[in-house]
Amino acid sequence: MIAIYPGSFDPITFGHLDIIDRGAKLFDSVIVAVLSNPSKKPLFSVEQRVEQIRYCTSHLANVKVDSFTGLTVDYAKLRDAKVLLRGLRVLSDFEKELQMAHTNSTLWTEIETVFLATAKEYSFLSSSVVKEIAQFGGAIDHLVPANIVRDICNYYQNKT
Ligand code: ADP
Repeated sequence: MIAIYPGSFDPITFGHLDIIDRGAKLFDSVIVAVLSNPSKKPLFSVEQRVEQIRYCTSHLANVKVDSFTGLTVDYAKLRDAKVLLRGLRVLSDFEKELQMAHTNSTLWTEIETVFLATAKEYSFLSSSVVKEIAQFGGAIDHLVPANIVRDICNYYQNKT
């Protein structure tokens, strides 16, 4: 069974990578799909995010990385995948995630959203937390892989 793990991943964190690792053990293959959302202003371009995620998941043979625009269910149909993989952190994720799962199943009844509970050490971790710390020069190497630390440092150094 193929699962799609859709998200912004701006940037990918150890929390996301934990979900990918565990998803790769549960499904035949996992496609990490970077959403290109024109209404959001991301730190990294879609191409950069795809490259970053490829680098961090290269040890996982059944994980592929791609990008998409538009509706997640349309992308899932295109890839012949009937499972959407999502991570659940704190209670505040729940409402949004449940709404999204129900909406997606009204768009395509065959789609199932599977939630993996976050590893407890990453339950506070989000891409925005990483960016907030990094822009003030704080340490982020316990939150994201080394290639992301490097890319974020470069980004903020070039900005100043
Ligand atoms: P989106 O903009 O779609 O919420 P994100 O990149 O923020 O994209 O997250 C993608 C998915 O990964 C979501 O299901 C989110 O709940 C989950 N996720 C994000 N951070 C973590 C984490 N630290 N632990 C587990 N799941 C996470």
